[in-house]
Amino acid sequence: SETVERHEFGAEVGRLLDLVVHALYSDREIFLRELVANAADAVDRRRFEALTGGVPGVPEGSAVRVVPDKAARTLTVTDPGIGMSKADMAENLGTIARSGTRAFTQSLADAKPGDRPSLIGQFGVGFYSAFMVAERVEVTSRKAGSDETWTWSSEGRGDYTLARAERAEPGTDIVLHVKADAEEFLEPIRLRTIIRKWADHITVPITIAEDGKDEPANEGTALWRKPKSEISAESYTEFYRHLGHNFDEPWATLHWHAEGTVEFTALLFIPGMKPFQVVEGERESRVRLHVRRMFITDEAALLPPWLRFVQGVVDTEDLPLNVSREMLQATPVLARIRKAVTNRVLSDLKTRAKEAEEYAKFWENFGPVLKEGIYEDTEHRKDLAGLLRFRSSAVEGWTSLADYVSRMKEGQEAIYVLSGDSAEALAKSPQLEGFRARGVEVLLLSDSIDAFWPERLGSFEEKPIRSVTQGSADLSKIAGGDAAQGEAADLSKLLPLLKDALKEDVSEVRATDRLVDSAVVLAAPEFGPDLHMQRLLQRAGR
Ligand code: ADP
Ligand code: MG
Repeated sequence: SETVERHEFGAEVGRLLDLVVHALYSDREIFLRELVANAADAVDRRRFEALTGGVPGVPEGSAVRVVPDKAARTLTVTDPGIGMSKADMAENLGTIARSGTRAFTQSLADAKPGDRPSLIGQFGVGFYSAFMVAERVEVTSRKAGSDETWTWSSEGRGDYTLARAERAEPGTDIVLHVKADAEEFLEPIRLRTIIRKWADHITVPITIAEDGKDEPANEGTALWRKPKSEISAESYTEFYRHLGHNFDEPWATLHWHAEGTVEFTALLFIPGMKPFQVVEGERESRVRLHVRRMFITDEAALLPPWLRFVQGVVDTEDLPLNVSREMLQATPVLARIRKAVTNRVLSDLKTRAKEAEEYAKFWENFGPVLKEGIYEDTEHRKDLAGLLRFRSSAVEGWTSLADYVSRMKEGQEAIYVLSGDSAEALAKSPQLEGFRARGVEVLLLSDSIDAFWPERLGSFEEKPIRSVTQGSADLSKIAGGDAAQGEAADLSKLLPLLKDALKEDVSEVRATDRLVDSAVVLAAPEFGPDLHMQRLLQRAGR
């Protein structure tokens, strides 16, 4: 301990600490959930790293230990996990990695008080919740594979120190110097209740020290291995909330056992609310892969990116426990599981799409993500097309392509779409005039992904999908309303004059039967990007 280095927190951390400590004060018991979850993650990570041979494995029979000491007024959470190097600590405990303070602050302000505790998990700021109950926190850690130990120490007010320390084995000790008004968290009974409530599903053993003995504190049952008939709706919900730091009810719960080309059990959830990370964050599916109950990795991409909102667990018998990273990349078992799980989720969505009102809730949260699949997944494009829902110029609420086709006018050959930034603005667009006058329905597309997928899908039930802004949509074959019938004026003199005046700004000026009240409208070339796409490309600086 000849040198103690002092470091300032990143500016964001200071504000965030304040926020966490004050906003969540009434739920401060969740600090233990966060510390225990971090410890269990660290154990899982070490176990997985050990499989690839890089680091020594987790000792048999070891646990995450929670050790209250009333005399010293400390609470220690100890784990035999992957540990942290000096640089890891500066990075993980001194900055905000995953998301900005502003997004977090906004979400906190928007959330109902009861929902706030889950937010700190969603935003990856769980560690800082320790300062709700501690006046000082010391983290002593040795990274697996290294023989250096460091202690990080802070009072949560602007700075922290790093100093050399000793630790016999890899792992981490988090020592909380408990505040005078938080001594309840030194009572084993209180600690046990918290673990039962928040951490019972963690499969790494957790113990609480009482009278010098370590007593098991969690059941650690793998819920998905129990028969469905023995699982109550509450248990499913509780597990779902634990899994993804959620606070809503799942919109769908899928629990099944598959036998055949590949054997696995899956317990998957579709959230009832849109989590922050799904749209803004990474695209990879985080569904957890277990082998015979044991957690292996959440990076196996068990579902395609366009189903990344699905959360849950897949547990298989068909991989060895000592599966390595390389094996995970090469094995056909995962490809089979991926296929089976994807198809199952799709068929469940198809069934639930029949209940329009319920399905709308799902669609409003995750529709734009599903559309990515039309764009990038040739294999599932057709199935996905049936799941799409749209705003339309002709009907209230949401409508499907199949319903659109059933309403098509006699002589209408194409499905017409108009895309832009908002459905409300689109509904007023002059581009719709000629279509309205003839009673031809147009689907209004307002998600940013809408500029991309229609061209890929191309058609639905053999009807081509066409943008109304593209070329000379041929409305003349469609029996029209009275408004569309008027005598067309002779424009043969006017058109060249207009072209002369506009010069290079347009490639062509021509007469159209698409307008009723407006004099002119912009159109895109027949075979190029449509107008909305052109605007997006312009914004992107192309
Ligand atoms: P999150 O767990 O969501 O990433 P936290 O604030 O809870 O956010 O933890 C921040 C990071 O600190 C973790 O991602 C992990 O890298 C590191 N960390 C925290 N506790 C431990 C631990 N006991 N062992 C190893 N690393 C840890
Ligand atoms: Mg955490």
